[in-house]
Amino acid sequence: MVWVLDSTLREGEQTPGVYFDKHIKLAIANLLDEVGVDIIEAGHPMVTPEIHAAVKSIAQKGYKRIVGAHSRSLKSDVDLALECGVDFIGIFYCVSDERLETVFKKDLTGACQLITEVIKYAKEQKPDLLIRYTPEDTVRSQFENVVTAAVAAIEAGADIISVADTTGFMVPGTSRSMYDYILRLKDEFNKRNLSPKIAVHCHNDRGLALANALDAYRAGVDIIDASSIGLGERAGIVDLAQLLTVLTIDFNENRWNLKKLVELYDLVSKHSGIPIPANFPITGKNAFTHCAGVHTHAASVNPMHYESLNPEILGRQRTFSLDHMSGIASLRYALALIDESSLDENLQYDVLREVKSVGQRGRTVDLSELKHIIDAVKHHQTYSK
Ligand SMILES: [Zn+2]
Repeated sequence: MVWVLDSTLREGEQTPGVYFDKHIKLAIANLLDEVGVDIIEAGHPMVTPEIHAAVKSIAQKGYKRIVGAHSRSLKSDVDLALECGVDFIGIFYCVSDERLETVFKKDLTGACQLITEVIKYAKEQKPDLLIRYTPEDTVRSQFENVVTAAVAAIEAGADIISVADTTGFMVPGTSRSMYDYILRLKDEFNKRNLSPKIAVHCHNDRGLALANALDAYRAGVDIIDASSIGLGERAGIVDLAQLLTVLTIDFNENRWNLKKLVELYDLVSKHSGIPIPANFPITGKNAFTHCAGVHTHAASVNPMHYESLNPEILGRQRTFSLDHMSGIASLRYALALIDESSLDENLQYDVLREVKSVGQRGRTVDLSELKHIIDAVKHHQTYSK
């Protein structure tokens, strides 16, 4: 059983220009609780007093899900997170030689000391706190450094080690495979008789975030990070709705309320100002709309001819649009849906001509517009008699 961590409120707010007001953050958390994600990463309380207040109100809402906060490797950040009452804390610190030397002016031993002190401190304050340690940019850092820091973090009390593909660098089936990376890391832990949970955080710079997350799943990862609409730095991270749907349908991880995703996405889209692309899988406007003539006809006989997912699992409906590609069969199917099957055959061809003309102007005709076209064609026929 894999856990899903939603980071809409933390990573999602790192999308340029995105900020959710406190009441919206709470509304998003309510829906995430209903969807049933396992961990809600509510924010980084040190960033602003408003975020601190929002994390606190989410942590104290009494959700069934685990509420977590982000924290740098600093006791002051840990204090702020614990003040909010969270049960999970994600601590990050880089381990790459180059970054340590040029940015932090430290060596690996110094970095490990700092990481372990903060983890021990957090565990002392709250023994049942779930602690995740992330070596930033894990997959591009020296593997030995990642292992050294992760082992030190686990021995200090970390429960989860997160493998971060911070720049969307991994490509399945190549030497940069997330599957191989996770197996290699697990092997290092096994050799030392350590068994932390392993999480994966995949960025989408190459459009491969979900593919890499599934590669990690295949390697037996315990937690996968995602966010609504895949919001996050640059091209964002794994899209929550796509991940949950694929895990449910294709991997029998049947624990989430997928029917709440559309409401969640509408809310997140409205208040982030980031539109859901019409052709976005699962939640996009066109994800279950059939348009081209042959598709509409075949799908009207049996939807599975042109669908591999049933829209009903998401509480959505299959729709049919007409445009310049539509033929008489699709029009007749659409007419039946709006109780206009008895329309005179000549008029049907007039209606089809109008539909194609609208389609050529780059628009589709939905069922309500089709009624207007029928009215206009009937009117024109009466008028021209
Ligand atoms: Zn990230």
